[in-house]
Amino acid sequence: MSSSILIIYTGGTIGMKEDPSDGTLKPFDFSQIKEEVPELNKFDVRLDSYTFDPLIDSSDVEPSLWTALGELIAERHEDYDGFVILHGTDTMAYSASTLSFMLEGLTKPVVFTGSQLPIGVPRTDGKENLIGAVEIAAAKDAEGHARVPEVCIFFDSKLLRGNRSTKYSAEAFNAFASPNCPPLAEAGINIRYNTELIRKPVYWDAQLRVQTHLDTRVSILKVHPGMTPQVMHSVVADPGTRAVILETYGSGNALSKDWFLRIIAEACASGKILLNVTQCKAGTVNMDLYATGAALKRAGVLSGADITTEAALGKLFCLMGRSDQDKWVKTMLEKDLCGEISK
Ligand code: ASP
Repeated sequence: MSSSILIIYTGGTIGMKEDPSDGTLKPFDFSQIKEEVPELNKFDVRLDSYTFDPLIDSSDVEPSLWTALGELIAERHEDYDGFVILHGTDTMAYSASTLSFMLEGLTKPVVFTGSQLPIGVPRTDGKENLIGAVEIAAAKDAEGHARVPEVCIFFDSKLLRGNRSTKYSAEAFNAFASPNCPPLAEAGINIRYNTELIRKPVYWDAQLRVQTHLDTRVSILKVHPGMTPQVMHSVVADPGTRAVILETYGSGNALSKDWFLRIIAEACASGKILLNVTQCKAGTVNMDLYATGAALKRAGVLSGADITTEAALGKLFCLMGRSDQDKWVKTMLEKDLCGEISK
């Protein structure tokens, strides 16, 4: 069963190649992808490419890129069996997380990948990442359905759920981790799919809907020793902010000082959405465990459970973009919408 894949190149290290004239790294033309990576010819896959203009270092990613990606996937959805998005690693987990909430009724794979070394240098990890991402995006089961109809990240032989991933190493090829969810697949001699973990659509003939309106009035506040009431107040009480992700200690704990709890309680009472996400890489928020966590819960802070900060941000952008009703947003925030929190 042959497949057709659209490779979407947004920028980042993977698409760079040394210009022999001056030795600098420049983006290469992705329409010639099969010449650069001849191994791709071995697959029975039709490959087309789409290059964003301008190409960006992913540190410059803006929600407008996510909207453009969502619209492109919706527009080309009928023409392809899967999508591979080449993206810089720095914000890949943010983009994959947000896209997972934006693309409702997804029945095809959307696989992000990139690399730590440019594709045009000898020890690059880019070729393997790209080849694996294409193979996974093209993979179908016996009924002809996509094996992984999810937004994911393929990196260093592991397929991770996009909204569970986080960039973990600035140097290692093994750059991404998904501490609260095992890999959806692992590539060794064969690609082993973790079938019982992979989410399947309710209806395979579902219509893809893209949520393009994102409400970005969200701030992230990392709780730390020595935090001052002034800084805390300026972030939490800012009238331009509709929601605050509070990055707390351990299982969702923070200062028990009166001033801290007062600012939190006032913000919640004024209608702000406050979401508790742990600073720990693994594990979950449980505000019933310690008095400091329980005080946050009493003040009106919601539990993010084991969500990553990246996924919390994308989830808030999408839910708030969909509704002005804070009550509805709060109810949906605590639900697992696309595998981002453990039940
Ligand atoms: N700064 C680059 C980016 O995220 C790093 C990379 O591509 O890996 O776009």
